Amino acid sequence: MSGFSMADIPVLRHLSPVRSFPHGIHPPEEKDATRSLPIRRFPFAPFLVLLLSQHAGRPARPVVREGQEVARGQPVAEADGFVSVPIHAPASGIIRKVGHALDMDGRMAPAIVLEPYPGSDQLVAWGKDRDPDSMSPREIVGAIRDMGMVGLGGAAFPAHVKFTPPEGRVIDTLIINAAECEPYLTADHRVMLEMPEKVLLGTSLIQKALKASRALIAIEDNKPDAIARMREALAEFQSGNGAGNMEVRVCRTKYPQGAEKMLTKALLNREIPSGGLPADIGVMVSNVTTASEIGTLLPRGQGLIERVITITGRGVERPGNYLMPIGTPLSFILEQVGMKGQAREVLFGGPMMGKAVAFVETPITKGISGIVVMEEEELPRKSRVYPCIRCGECINVCPMYLNPSTLGQLARKNRFDEMAESLNLFDCFECGCCSYVCPANIPLVQSFRLSKAVVRERMAAK
Ligand code: SF4
Ligand code: SF4
Repeated sequence: MSGFSMADIPVLRHLSPVRSFPHGIHPPEEKDATRSLPIRRFPFAPFLVLLLSQHAGRPARPVVREGQEVARGQPVAEADGFVSVPIHAPASGIIRKVGHALDMDGRMAPAIVLEPYPGSDQLVAWGKDRDPDSMSPREIVGAIRDMGMVGLGGAAFPAHVKFTPPEGRVIDTLIINAAECEPYLTADHRVMLEMPEKVLLGTSLIQKALKASRALIAIEDNKPDAIARMREALAEFQSGNGAGNMEVRVCRTKYPQGAEKMLTKALLNREIPSGGLPADIGVMVSNVTTASEIGTLLPRGQGLIERVITITGRGVERPGNYLMPIGTPLSFILEQVGMKGQAREVLFGGPMMGKAVAFVETPITKGISGIVVMEEEELPRKSRVYPCIRCGECINVCPMYLNPSTLGQLARKNRFDEMAESLNLFDCFECGCCSYVCPANIPLVQSFRLSKAVVRERMAAK
């Protein structure tokens, strides 16, 4: 029987232990170039640019002055309020500037420029050993705040805020998002293969902080080696310290499987209400690299100064997974990994939700998990935009059950308020599935992003 697959039989799919959600797409994975490459340390750039607003919330406040010597790991900026995090020196060196630098959007933003000492070593000279077993949930959240941790999956939301659920909310399940559904990116995959015990320690600490009765580690079925490695490590971890209720669960490889709403649907069959948060249904979702960094840094009392990044795309000569100092300028990275002559576009993040970078001076921030350098042939065809032919493809793939076709038509007529009030514009989390399948090349997701910005501005003006 040609063309037969399990997915064709709904009953068999239901019985399968591989979990998923309705709608979504299957873009080419493009992970082969880096999935088997071990994480390697990246050298220090001549200057590191530490943006003070590389997280959601208020920018950090500098606590150093120009000309001051700092040690690797030393705090250089403190949190300015609850929704803010401190920033630490990624290298030992001299503070050259406390002022402004170019951010990803091409704006001059508050920043600290650090010149690492030539030959600055990789030892972290700042930290305080802690015994995680003796820490209370409140102390764990405080330690996570002190390390400047943010969501490393891309949102860069301060982790301590996320791990402080709203008053009255009980979190029963922590989901560790290890789906890594974005094409090209393999950093999370390598983290699971190379440091599974750190992932598990971090997961158990977050679980304790939230007082969650169970933790589920969700991995897509295109990473069988990571699934096996994590299960093996979990068996050892649980026999070693008897740590709580944790399980590795397998999800179908489908985009955007790693979105919070899709994970809670796939794993728990629970739906986050429109405009709501996972905490509203007793769930918290955290990225797997966030968990591994918490597992690494919290016992040492150190700050987040580097992170694993995938650098890939056909425009790169030496693709790989690199442990990258925060603040490394893109220009230095491209010089080190080599750019091919045919390279056309550089993205921070993957091709579905990443952002094109316009300035090579832009530095790496905590939320960037990948750099994709694309050649002409990898770019989506930017041919003519045609009128909507009402094929319904965008509706068939939208994981939020929105009507991107109608939303797109209203956006073209500047009827932004109507989009928000009647068509749940703010449920769109900009996954890009609708734009990806649109045969008329209508830039749907871009118009929704713009529409949301207009509505937000109008609301703020009111
Ligand atoms: S409307 Fe939004 S959520 Fe739905 S497919 Fe398009 S970008 Fe994704
Ligand atoms: S996919 Fe494009 S052409 Fe088809 S209904 Fe949606 S907006 Fe219209």
